Amino acid sequence: MARYTDAVCRQCRREGQKLFLKGERCYSAKCGITRRTYAPGQHGQGRKKISEYGLQFRTKQKAKHYYGVLEKQFHHYFEMAENKQGITGENLLKLLESRLDNVAYRLGWASSRPEARQLVVHGHFTVNGKKVNIPSYLLKAGDVISIKEKSRQSEKFKSVLEGSGGRPVPKWLDKNASTAEAKVINLPARDEIDFEVEEHLIVEYYSK
Ligand code: SF4
Repeated sequence: MARYTDAVCRQCRREGQKLFLKGERCYSAKCGITRRTYAPGQHGQGRKKISEYGLQFRTKQKAKHYYGVLEKQFHHYFEMAENKQGITGENLLKLLESRLDNVAYRLGWASSRPEARQLVVHGHFTVNGKKVNIPSYLLKAGDVISIKEKSRQSEKFKSVLEGSGGRPVPKWLDKNASTAEAKVINLPARDEIDFEVEEHLIVEYYSK
């Protein structure tokens, strides 16, 4: 399965923003961007000016890295977003948020999206009672996702389920901690997505 292999903290430093790719480390003083706020590379500390195209390109790259999606699939999401009613940029973010790996992360069942992706691939979750091991699986309103009964007994999920909750769960997801289940109430509105991104720049990038 194709995935990014670039050192992950470099991706955050290049985009000048936390992308939360490393789990607990992202919330600690060890976070790469906290320790080194400048961009990676020989000229990282000298980069200042960016063209309009450069800004659009970097915004698109930032969103790809944040959600862990490669170019081809990301462009496919853009085309899907364009064909839906409403604002294309918001549609794009909604689609990305509805991915199963993202939802597992949002629910606090994984410490990062890359970990959530791995847990999905390893078959730890069900959607509406059926095992789904495709990270890009798009959830819709009314879907119920669960941690598989057998997986709940593993040390990983025991600590997740016994934990105090960690990150807040977004309002568009109804999480039932005691049953290790959650329901998608609806797909999120833009103000329910806490990703700092100017999505209209992505639309402009692909609309050239
Ligand atoms: Fe990004 Fe996390 Fe690395 Fe910080 S620790 S730079 S948020 S991946």
